Amino acid sequence: MNQHVANKTLPDKVNDPGICPRCPFVHICMPDYATAGIEFIEDRVLLEKIRRYEELKGSMFEYNALDKMLKDQLKEKQMSIGEFLITGKWVERKEMPAQPATKYWAKKIQRIDKTGAAVSPGDGTEKVSF
Ligand code: SF4
Repeated sequence: MNQHVANKTLPDKVNDPGICPRCPFVHICMPDYATAGIEFIEDRVLLEKIRRYEELKGSMFEYNALDKMLKDQLKEKQMSIGEFLITGKWVERKEMPAQPATKYWAKKIQRIDKTGAAVSPGDGTEKVSF
């Protein structure tokens, strides 16, 4: 850098879309991503898929965090709360070559209507008895 200052020259541009958007000089440098091998694509279908993928990715992180929290809070619980029926059972996992036998609580969350019928997708209209 000192050499460039002494010679009054500029260093080569990085032109890295992973770096440049955070660079404080991006507004005067105007990096050329095209020379970094970036193609500019116009494909609405692909664009919508990428947008949806990014939206769901955020949901996935939230889902995983809530799943972890609820795993503890709903362990060994059999209850009705709001429009949900919470049940579960212990499941034993057999010993495998690289894994000892374990058991875990498999929670089941069903959305129910006022009559006690399960309305969760995939659960049909199974009647739940209390
Ligand atoms: S914006 Fe310009 S100065 Fe900043 S890192 Fe990219 S190429 Fe280098």
